[in-house]
Amino acid sequence: MKRNIPFSQKLFWSIFFIFLGFTGCFFIFQYQREAEFAQEKLDTVLKTYNHQLHYRLLHDTTHQVDSIVKNFLDEIPNKDIRVTIIDPSGNVLFDNSAGVDDLPNHNDREEVQKARKMEKRSFAIRLSETTGIRYFYSASNINSYIYRTALPYDPDTKGILAINIDFIYFMAIMVAIFILVLSRYSRRIGQTIAKLRDFARNIRDVKQDDKEYVFPNDELGEISKQIITLYHKQQKAKDDLAVEREKLIKHFQYSREGFAMFTDSGQEILSNILYIQFANLIADEDIHAAEEVIELPELAPIRKFLEQQGNSSRTRVLRETVTVDKAGKIFLVECMLFLNNSYEISINDISRQEEESRMKRQLTQNVAHELKTPVSSIQGYLETIISNPDLPADKRAFFLERCYAQSTRLTGLLQDISVLNRLEEAGDLFDLTEVDLTKLITDISRECEQRMKAKNISCRLRLPQSLPIHGNNSLLYSIFRNLFDNSIAYGGEGITITVNCYKQDEKFYYFNFSDNGVGIEEKHINRIFERFYRVDTGRSRKLGGTGLGLSIVKNAVIFHKGQISAKSIIGKGVNFLFTLHK
Ligand code: ADP
Repeated sequence: MKRNIPFSQKLFWSIFFIFLGFTGCFFIFQYQREAEFAQEKLDTVLKTYNHQLHYRLLHDTTHQVDSIVKNFLDEIPNKDIRVTIIDPSGNVLFDNSAGVDDLPNHNDREEVQKARKMEKRSFAIRLSETTGIRYFYSASNINSYIYRTALPYDPDTKGILAINIDFIYFMAIMVAIFILVLSRYSRRIGQTIAKLRDFARNIRDVKQDDKEYVFPNDELGEISKQIITLYHKQQKAKDDLAVEREKLIKHFQYSREGFAMFTDSGQEILSNILYIQFANLIADEDIHAAEEVIELPELAPIRKFLEQQGNSSRTRVLRETVTVDKAGKIFLVECMLFLNNSYEISINDISRQEEESRMKRQLTQNVAHELKTPVSSIQGYLETIISNPDLPADKRAFFLERCYAQSTRLTGLLQDISVLNRLEEAGDLFDLTEVDLTKLITDISRECEQRMKAKNISCRLRLPQSLPIHGNNSLLYSIFRNLFDNSIAYGGEGITITVNCYKQDEKFYYFNFSDNGVGIEEKHINRIFERFYRVDTGRSRKLGGTGLGLSIVKNAVIFHKGQISAKSIIGKGVNFLFTLHK
């Protein structure tokens, strides 16, 4: 397996080798410089000799070159110096270590050539052809005569030319310091990077990283801290977004409208259950995927709208709606296009809204109709009285009684309407008190005793000793009073009314209010709770009913957080099952 070299080591070694390369070059350069310096130093000494010799020879009158040289050599520390004097044409005029006659022309000698060219560094280390010894030659060109002094290249001379190695020590110390600093910094950088790598690995593997990372107090540490802070910020934003998305999805799932979102190519992003459900109600064949919905012939306008929008670059119309009347329901299908060409489609069941507005219209008609009857009969009676001033007193009293009865009926109707309105619009106007239902129901049964007796109706109350409830007394009264009144009015003679609290739990009382009278036909049973709904309009009116009784009962039950339903078998009576919150 390939070994992973840590970053810090890589960094260390790469900088180390670059530094070593530079140091090596510098060392070679400096070494040569030192060597040249030593040679130049010796050359300078020998050149001084050359010039001193020339000076002595110039001012000597004896012309005894030999003795002059000898004297000179006696005065200087280097006794074994070889001295040569060469004339402009290269002939050796004097040489203290060989006979002049044996010597060949010296113009080809390296140092001589250099001196002739007046080069600054006119010296050479080479083997002498004459003596067979290695010398350090230094030649000076003085008025085209070459004065040459040479030192045998023996250990002493080598010693003089030896390099001063102090700079090597200096360099070694510098290298050591550099390595120390480098290793310290590379380790530090390496640690920071290793921590960042750990962090990256952790967030990849664990998804969530709550570990505390401590970074050094430098730029890299600062950047690393910023990266982690940014990551946490981004993570938080992502989490927040996920929560919002979750909320949105939940909202869609529980929304009462079918909803789906699509990409620009028509791929589903998300949809709720109602979307498919509504689509299936519209479709003739089963639909399984949200993508299929757009293919429905009923949604052709929306399809066309999407196609047009895709092609046009004009100012965009972003919304298209179509109403579909199908399966006894009315659906409002709406398509909304977004800037990136993705779109959403919502399907709304507006039958309920339609139904509600229909009922509202009907309600107004009903109220008007209900008011019209008593008002017009009062008006009729009063007109008769006014236009017949001679009406006998007993007849007049009769008409006035009728008027009074109609106005009482009117008052009752207005009271019922007002109760219903208050229940719907301002439920909080009903104050809550502790009420004992057993007592309340017993009282009502007593109030109705006379009327029950007249119709030979018996009453059975299956109630516990007490049924305490936190509710509105007058509404609770209305519930049971209306049910009693209805059974007495419509049930028929010789029946039995039973009020049974058959169950109670922590929160609710469960009631069954029943009679074994004529009952209500199946087709009416679901509508008896509607306002002004009567099974037999004429009969109900004659009996003083307003058609609002059961509507009040239902709303009063709902006010007490309960539910009510009715069942009935024709000829066997009616059963009202309801709950009331304690
Ligand atoms: P109403 O003011 O006409 O009594 P309700 O809302 O109280 O109005 O009742 C609606 C209709 O339900 C009544 O017209 C009546 O025909 C029918 N109904 C109510 N209770 C009974 C019952 N116990 N037995 C038979 N029919 C009933």
